Amino acid sequence: MATSEGCFRVFEKLRHILRGKLLGREPMSRHTSWRVGGNADVYLVPADREDLLAALSVLEKEAIPWMVLGGGSNLLVRDGGIRGAVIDTAALNRLEFLSGGEVRAEAGVVLGQLIEEAARRGLAGLELLYGIPGTVGGALAMNAGVPGREFGERVESALIVEGGTMSRWDRQRLRFGYRRSALTSGMIAVEARLLFSPGESEALQTVLRERLAYRRRTQKVEGANAGSVFRNPPGAKAWELIEEAGLKGASVGGAQVSRFHANFIVNQGKAQAEDILALIQRIQKEVESSSGIRLEPEVKIVGENTALNG
Ligand SMILES: Cc1cc2nc3c(=O)[nH]c(=O)nc-3n(C[C@H](O)[C@H](O)[C@H](O)COP(=O)(O)OP(=O)(O)OC[C@H]3O[C@@H](n4cnc5c(N)ncnc54)[C@H](O)[C@@H]3O)c2cc1C
Repeated sequence: MATSEGCFRVFEKLRHILRGKLLGREPMSRHTSWRVGGNADVYLVPADREDLLAALSVLEKEAIPWMVLGGGSNLLVRDGGIRGAVIDTAALNRLEFLSGGEVRAEAGVVLGQLIEEAARRGLAGLELLYGIPGTVGGALAMNAGVPGREFGERVESALIVEGGTMSRWDRQRLRFGYRRSALTSGMIAVEARLLFSPGESEALQTVLRERLAYRRRTQKVEGANAGSVFRNPPGAKAWELIEEAGLKGASVGGAQVSRFHANFIVNQGKAQAEDILALIQRIQKEVESSSGIRLEPEVKIVGENTALNG
């Protein structure tokens, strides 16, 4: 448990060593696509991987819990915020194209940028994922994908920091599965090494334009959101089960089940995380009673409740 004195001590230490950005009591609503979430005690954006390792050593020495943040597009932060530190990977953004289709992308590289640059260079493999928000680190941790194509298929290995040391994990060790990998809290992916196939640049860029148009058509939703909220259960589609339970358009406070895509929950403008959480629980309960299937969230839920909700 991070005490406020512990966080203050860590903040002071980080202020002296960190070359990147350091903020205190930072609203997480500024960093999540749902635009909700209370304050993080300490928020840091390490300038590069050496800065990251130095910061981690301070956090671990002071026993301050931390979590890693990419684009915040798959994350629900509770209204009480985050006790401890949030490490934002935005400045780890080196992207290198090597020979033979090999690409090294640091965790904070925006996924869309990686796919666009690859297409421009005639490198094929991830174009169907174009339009998924977030970073390379988030896509790796979540094994982001669309039906029939996943980020992990193109990952040969990744540099992972765990317990303060960095090592290279091969794809077997990364154990990619449906929207999951072997990465758990306490681990940070610093860089992914990917292997693309040769393709024709013009044709690939046409696919990107088509993918974007398709997403705009099919994911036209009414407000801030985090994409699909629930995992598809084996042999079923979460959005269909939610629709069949009659929940399209259902709302709690400022959170509403999208009228366009039933597996999306939108922030109608003034939602709190507790509204979204209550709607998630309502969907779970009502879908279970109508179909017998318990939906499990795909989004990651972190942080503390406010004192009010215990
Ligand atoms: C409009 C919309 C559409 C979407 N469509 C899709 C889709 O089609 N397919 C799909 O798969 N997803 C989709 N998503 C969800 C989301 O974009 C993906 O899961 C994305 O890969 C998350 O990346 P991120 O950088 O935003 O991760 P974050 O939300 O920041 O983090 C997600 C999880 O990954 C962990 N993480 C992040 N970076 C690292 C790192 N460097 N090392 C270790 N762990 C890390 C975090 O701690 C957290 O547990 C959509 C979201 C939105 C808003």
